[in-house]
Amino acid sequence: MIYKNEVTQMNATIQPVLIGSEIYRQSSFGIDHPLSIPRVSTVLDMIKALGWCGPGEYRTAPCAKPKLLQQFHSHSYISALQSIELSQKVNAVERKTYNIGTLSNPVFSEMFQRPATSVGSSILAAELVAGGGCAYALGGGLHHGMATYANGFCFLNDLVFAIRRLRSLGIKRISYVDLDAHHCDGVEAAFENDDNLLIVSTHEEVRWPFTGQLKGNVLDRWVNIPLPKACNDDEFLSVVNKIVLPVIQRFSPEALIIQGGADALRDDPLSRLCLSNTALWQTFSNLLELSDRVILTGGGGYNPWAVARLWTGFWAIMSGRQVPCELDASASSILRDLHWARKSEPDESVFHYFHDLPNKGIIRPEIQDLSEHLKRVHFL
Ligand SMILES: [Zn+2]
Repeated sequence: MIYKNEVTQMNATIQPVLIGSEIYRQSSFGIDHPLSIPRVSTVLDMIKALGWCGPGEYRTAPCAKPKLLQQFHSHSYISALQSIELSQKVNAVERKTYNIGTLSNPVFSEMFQRPATSVGSSILAAELVAGGGCAYALGGGLHHGMATYANGFCFLNDLVFAIRRLRSLGIKRISYVDLDAHHCDGVEAAFENDDNLLIVSTHEEVRWPFTGQLKGNVLDRWVNIPLPKACNDDEFLSVVNKIVLPVIQRFSPEALIIQGGADALRDDPLSRLCLSNTALWQTFSNLLELSDRVILTGGGGYNPWAVARLWTGFWAIMSGRQVPCELDASASSILRDLHWARKSEPDESVFHYFHDLPNKGIIRPEIQDLSEHLKRVHFL
């Protein structure tokens, strides 16, 4: 199965850019944390091994400076993040005030620099696409980050900065689409009163952070699509085709930001959605056609093999390459070298094929009802 990039005429003339950093290679949230696994570094290694990064296609993300971060995050929170990174100690008041030093948001070596690099990635992406084109901020996608505290593995919120940077460059009308299994509570909270931002989120219902419920839908502002557990490819694509694509098309955004979290995949341990990577690639291909400026970021994703294949495939599609059926020996050996505390070995097919087997299935009545309800609410 092959997906071709069908970007608009304007995008086709501007070279897509992949944005990464080596800070993610050695950095870990701790051995027991879901983010103990390598993700960005594996994708960069796969892309290099496959020869999918030519001259001018890669940029190193800068680390955003404290002064810049304080344009959204509070001064005291940024100062605390820096000092705790330095001391590697958190006191009881800081733990309570900033939600740091918890199981989700632990103290670790790069706890300021790593998320600040994610912010730098997404700001750079905004600057690169302002005149048209696409950029992939691999380390971005910290959609739970709040202005004054850490939340759900996210110490900062790079997406807020990407939206603000686009605005400062004259891009007014923006759509933010979140494909992660968790709702984008941090992004929603940061733009409560913004008529020129359409936020669309597909996520698992009854799943932390428990926001993004059906009642939270607001015409041309918030499109929240809570999906039932075991959601299959056909169900997901039906919702994408009936709701996600038409609502964005009607909004006609000058720029589209896509959070491409990998935790809605079937093999992810942190959600009960059951998508194959082919469903997410198909969705991404279709989204690419909806704006002349597209930013893709990372996000959740806690199975190292599933993340690596999905995100490497995203870059192939963005950069106009084909996602091959089979992995070549060099890419396969990168995947074989990965280790994951939760599982000793994945299914052997992971080392041979780029594509998961499509997870086809019937479209359950609850999904049909969900689509009908959303069509009414959003006048589709
Ligand atoms: Zn997630």
